[in-house]
Amino acid sequence: MNSNRYKILIIEDETNIRNFVKTILHANGYQVLEAGSSREGMMMYLSHTPDCLILDLGLPDGDGIDFITQVRKQAGVPILVLSARTNESDKVEALDAGANDYVTKPFGTAELLARVRAALRIYQHGSMQNLETDGKFRVNDLVIDFESRQVMLGENEIHLTQTEYNIAALLARHAGKVMTYSEIIREVWRWSDAGSVKKLQVNMANIRKKMGVKPGDNRYISNELGVGYRMNTDG
Ligand code: CA
Repeated sequence: MNSNRYKILIIEDETNIRNFVKTILHANGYQVLEAGSSREGMMMYLSHTPDCLILDLGLPDGDGIDFITQVRKQAGVPILVLSARTNESDKVEALDAGANDYVTKPFGTAELLARVRAALRIYQHGSMQNLETDGKFRVNDLVIDFESRQVMLGENEIHLTQTEYNIAALLARHAGKVMTYSEIIREVWRWSDAGSVKKLQVNMANIRKKMGVKPGDNRYISNELGVGYRMNTDG
């Protein structure tokens, strides 16, 4: 159990969802601030310096994406987006604007709390919380040594191609954050064409196969369908 007094600001116009989130967070020891509009949310954000924002994308007085863009101009505070929309392009837009993660409505208590904890971990320790003093990334039995470009699973080295390694290392450097297809493609290949996403998916399938992960299993790397990939920070 976290001994937290983290301050979390919920910006959501639907009262029942706001109350649901508030109740969960309160019950888990968080301090909660709330706002029902974009304008009120910005005022609360500026005057209370919360540790994390939970933001609805569809607000009555403005788009959540604009809110993210405005906050990101000056601060690295983690932003968790609540989206009723199942449309992947909204999630991608929110992530590209600088949101850390998203939860699609309806969502459960455990999922929300896990996302909040992950967002706060990034805030507290930087995105390299799994990086120990020896310069290696660790999650469970997976170890990535950035210096020697070696990837180990327990005692066994996994042999990745250069591209596969670059993808895995990139995700590890941003562990906990969903990286969109276009972010990954930009970093790994520097350019993109019609076949880029397919190429990325093929590489990812190989990485997962080499890690002994069965299709559909989100061990080490979570597949965010239609959006991107996330290196897990635990499990
Ligand atoms: Ca709404």
